[in-house]
Amino acid sequence: MKLLLWLLIVAAVVKWVLRAKKATLRSGPAHAEPSASRTGSRELEMMLQCAHCGVYFPASEAVGNAAGPVFCSEQHRLQHAAR
Ligand SMILES: [Zn+2]
Repeated sequence: MKLLLWLLIVAAVVKWVLRAKKATLRSGPAHAEPSASRTGSRELEMMLQCAHCGVYFPASEAVGNAAGPVFCSEQHRLQHAAR
């Protein structure tokens, strides 16, 4: 019975360690991305939403005229016009 208890404790510790490792791995690159090294002109650029798929993209990559709806790609502009 004591052995079973120890097995449970060891399993719990291993689970906890693995979870902690996973958490540090996940937070590592994701945490580093919005750091000071990336704060260039791109972050200040206005973001637009594609009228077809709803994805956000930089204004410089917009397809379509300024007055009408904007699209993330030429393909979506054509697909939206075809509807
Ligand atoms: Zn789109």
